[in-house]
Amino acid sequence: MSKTHLGHTARKRFGQNFLHDDYVIGNIVSAINPVDGENLVEIGPGLGALTDPVCEEVSRLTVVELDRDLAERLRHHPFHGSKLTIVEQDALKLNFADLLPAMPNPEGKLRVFGNLPYNISTPLMFHLFSFSGKVQDMHFMLQKEVVNRLAAGPGSKSYGRLSVMAQYYCAVIPVLHVPPGAFKPPPKVDSAVVRLVPHATPPVAVKSVTLLEKVCAAAFNQRRKTIRNSLGDWVTEAELESLSLSPTARAETLSLADFAAVANLVADRDG
Ligand code: SAM
Repeated sequence: MSKTHLGHTARKRFGQNFLHDDYVIGNIVSAINPVDGENLVEIGPGLGALTDPVCEEVSRLTVVELDRDLAERLRHHPFHGSKLTIVEQDALKLNFADLLPAMPNPEGKLRVFGNLPYNISTPLMFHLFSFSGKVQDMHFMLQKEVVNRLAAGPGSKSYGRLSVMAQYYCAVIPVLHVPPGAFKPPPKVDSAVVRLVPHATPPVAVKSVTLLEKVCAAAFNQRRKTIRNSLGDWVTEAELESLSLSPTARAETLSLADFAAVANLVADRDG
């Protein structure tokens, strides 16, 4: 399979797999449902597979593209160039809140979408969660396995730190399964589109999100161990029992509310 699409050779280091299936593209754009006047941001526009049909619907779109050649190509876009604000930057380092003042509705929230580079999709989502107060919704193409992890609940093999943190910040709604053949070059894995809608109020009260993240990371880094062991640096057995958690349970059986209870206990105890 050729790695060249529309005259551009796909760069592996930028996670470039370009969508070319019009049916899939149409379904993704319908799921996003872009409306003129919204604060739309696309991460990784690439050769414009999503950019073009979204620009058919709206008069302004901000795109964030790290590949200099692709950003340059977009600057000279024959049809939609004047609609685009091109941010040639690493999305992982971008302060997304800084985009708002130049948007159609600076007092509103961002609608973020993209067929994400899979090599950075998890850190990118964690980065975006930190702006969730400024985000209306997100639609992302990801590895199917990552969508499964985002949506998984306790007891599932896919359940982990990403599930707990994503569900703390957002409602997670899988939208569409996408086979490798929809891309050029085709990735080695199946893909899926997910909709993430930040909660107006988090489903559980957490005193320190940083502590919640650290407790989840400790628990799932050693997911085969009992929480007595994996969380031993954070809480005692007696403290786990005071929260009605069995010290011999494993991380994968704890709910978001359980992790929040552990993090809140640590926050109260250590001030
Ligand atoms: N949207 C296009 C499509 O669907 O055909 C391209 C998707 S391709 C999977 C990922 C895109 O993200 C590429 O255009 C790549 O250059 C860009 N990209 C990779 N790393 C990035 C980063 N750190 N920040 C912004 N864009 C990045």
